[in-house]
Amino acid sequence: MRSKAVVVGLGPAGAAALRRLNELGVPSVGIERKASPEDPPVCGEFLPEPDAVRFISSKPSISKAFSYISLARKRNSISAVRLEFEGGKGFTLRIPGFTVSRTELVHKLIEGSEYYLGDDVVGLRKVGSEYVVRTRRGREITAKYVIACDGYPSTVRNLLGEPSLLPPDDVAPAVNAKVETPSMRKDLVFMYSSSETAGGYAWIIPFEDGVSNVGVGLRLSYVKRGLSPVRVLERFIERNPHGYLTGYAVVEPPRGRWVPVAGFYAEAEREGVMFAGDSLGAVNPINGGGIFPAMALGILAAEAAWLDSPHAYPVRAWSEVGAVLEVGRIYRKLVDFLYRNWSFAVKLSYLFPESMLTRVIKGEKTALYHLLRLLGRGTRSGYPRRTGPASRRSR
Ligand SMILES: Cc1cc2nc3c(=O)[nH]c(=O)nc-3n(C[C@H](O)[C@H](O)[C@H](O)COP(=O)(O)OP(=O)(O)OC[C@H]3O[C@@H](n4cnc5c(N)ncnc54)[C@H](O)[C@@H]3O)c2cc1C
Repeated sequence: MRSKAVVVGLGPAGAAALRRLNELGVPSVGIERKASPEDPPVCGEFLPEPDAVRFISSKPSISKAFSYISLARKRNSISAVRLEFEGGKGFTLRIPGFTVSRTELVHKLIEGSEYYLGDDVVGLRKVGSEYVVRTRRGREITAKYVIACDGYPSTVRNLLGEPSLLPPDDVAPAVNAKVETPSMRKDLVFMYSSSETAGGYAWIIPFEDGVSNVGVGLRLSYVKRGLSPVRVLERFIERNPHGYLTGYAVVEPPRGRWVPVAGFYAEAEREGVMFAGDSLGAVNPINGGGIFPAMALGILAAEAAWLDSPHAYPVRAWSEVGAVLEVGRIYRKLVDFLYRNWSFAVKLSYLFPESMLTRVIKGEKTALYHLLRLLGRGTRSGYPRRTGPASRRSR
């Protein structure tokens, strides 16, 4: 079979890429490992209102991603995020948002496109200027472009012979359960940070009709030292903050997945293979949000394939998404320090103005960002290729 573009993986990034390719009339095919995409989703399914994150939602690709997101029904409207530190201060962050069903979203996005489900990519071979993509079930698709939206760790990256694993400090194993929460406030996302939620946080996100996404994300470096995300989640539920989990019943058991929290960690494009979403590290390192960045990158990769200009992809990907995530990565360095010095973090929480913390958690630039940049000047960033796209603007 021959096509112009193959999209590997139909999560938010791949589904958005496939839709954009279809809209632009580019012959394309998607391949998804799961027999039914996003069944079940492993996610908090929370998104900020675009107006609450104007510093990023005004970028063309992000704005397009939000227009795609509006294809799915809003399940619940959230007015604020309540962030509390164990033994420290609590903050009500005015970050209005909403929940969507990822399953519904992805199914809506891929409607009308060509794709194969229940099959996964296991081989990639360059033949002349094209790629032959091979699947476990023996399909072979020849295409000029491959859009790798296969999450973290990326099989496609592996097949290209590139390292696909990040160091333990840059990966967060996260688990989420769907839980009936009759006592939870419907208009509030609850985030809880303690010495146990090492490098991450626990959450209750009221999803719809008395059911919440309840979960926890920790940094792998701490998990390697013996913390278990499921056990931390169980203890969070036992703690029953503010009685929000009184009368709870688990609807879907905890399921886990890796979240890369380094921002862009490798090249966005290599010889016609474009990486979008978690396969590129497109998650905001400070808040763990990755749905709309993943979709924006899928859209940009699709547009680069349409324009026959894969080299344009890293430049746009960096300027519209990567550079913003880099701000979150700088804040994350502070979070890393505070988790290593928890009693100091508790004291510091009393000094933090609510308005600044709101902007920090959104991943927006503040005076604190500039200060941290200044303090970090001269230290190695860890991923020398992160700023590669910017340096290749003249290509
Ligand atoms: C517990 C948890 C909670 C989260 N909560 C939120 C939240 O509330 N809001 C938010 O914005 N973000 C959240 N995130 C982050 C967000 O889920 C991810 O950033 C986002 O899913 C990335 O989308 P993606 O399409 O790049 O990758 P994925 O969602 O990982 O999709 C990759 C797809 O590729 C498929 N695949 C993998 N390998 C192959 C292969 N070889 N061949 C074919 N198919 C393949 C997989 O089956 C999967 O469907 C959360 C993450 C976790 C783990």
